[in-house]
Amino acid sequence: PFDVLVVGGGPAGASAAIYAARKGIRTGIVAERFGGQILDTAAIENFISVKHTEGPKLAAGLEEHVKDYNVDVMNLQRATRLEKKDLIEIELENGAVLKSKSVILATGARWRNIGVQGEAEFRNKGVAYCPHCDGPLFEGKDVAVVGGGNSGVEAAIDLAGITNHVTVLEFGSELKADSVLQQRLRSLPNVTVLTNAQTTEITGTDKVDGISYIDRSTGAEHHVELAGVFVQIGLVPNTDWLGDSVERNRAGEIVVDKRGATNVPGVFAAGDCSDSAFKQIIISMGSGATASLSAFDYLVRHQTE
Ligand code: FAD
Repeated sequence: PFDVLVVGGGPAGASAAIYAARKGIRTGIVAERFGGQILDTAAIENFISVKHTEGPKLAAGLEEHVKDYNVDVMNLQRATRLEKKDLIEIELENGAVLKSKSVILATGARWRNIGVQGEAEFRNKGVAYCPHCDGPLFEGKDVAVVGGGNSGVEAAIDLAGITNHVTVLEFGSELKADSVLQQRLRSLPNVTVLTNAQTTEITGTDKVDGISYIDRSTGAEHHVELAGVFVQIGLVPNTDWLGDSVERNRAGEIVVDKRGATNVPGVFAAGDCSDSAFKQIIISMGSGATASLSAFDYLVRHQTE
């Protein structure tokens, strides 16, 4: 069996694997797609001490650093079940069962899609999910933000400072963001807030040229011409496969304490799949290191051989 088995190969998982391997213990890492979300990221400018890098470059760096150690890397493998017996078992989609004395869950998260026509087709051609990354591409243009929760309203405030105009489309009858954010949003001259707005299509030819929605209070259809649509309707943790084996909160995030420990002895979690307050690369790496040191501490205290 492994001493530490990491599930997930993003910044959190890579960090956890390196910290474990440096203790000289048997370490494995299973990843559906080594690199994780950063593979889909263009510019990264907030990874402290690196002024600018690109996602795929950082992902290659993660892999190179992990492979520099004696880590059993199992890429393109999806975990489908966790079960705590004497050892902790992780079953893979291909039917194999891996056994380990401790497990670090680092399966990350993904942006929730609206699921309308044009969304997938125009991804990276006007459809975006990250205002910090893609906002500057729409400088001086008109954009929409779909979603009126905290992330949507924060995105709209951010984009209002860069773009010409921002239209916020909220499905419900009112915005769900904190009132201080709503006040800030409403104080901005170049923002229009639409409530009861059900997005029906993102239109375009080779790139986005508009968004269609139904006003749910009247049933009337409308179309707004614009160059970009930021989808901000939530970040979904990749934790469904865990079922009830580990405690998760209402958002599906794995509940951890300050040491990265879950409610199951020997099972730790880190990064975007956990209930950490913020989801960023540097935060994921820090929590991966925390979980790994905690797993090592657990092994020292609980294992005899
Ligand atoms: P992830 O990166 O999501 O990695 C999860 C890993 O787990 C992947 O390897 C995945 O394949 C694997 N996995 C998932 N399910 C399973 C399973 N069942 N079995 C096996 N493996 C599984 N953050 C910043 O700090 N700066 C930025 O500029 C920035 N820009 C971003 C731009 C975009 C477009 C996106 C999407 C995110 C951006 N982020 C940015 C956020 C940052 O990418 C995440 O916070 C970070 O990647 C989280 O790391 P993680 O290791 O927790 O999860």
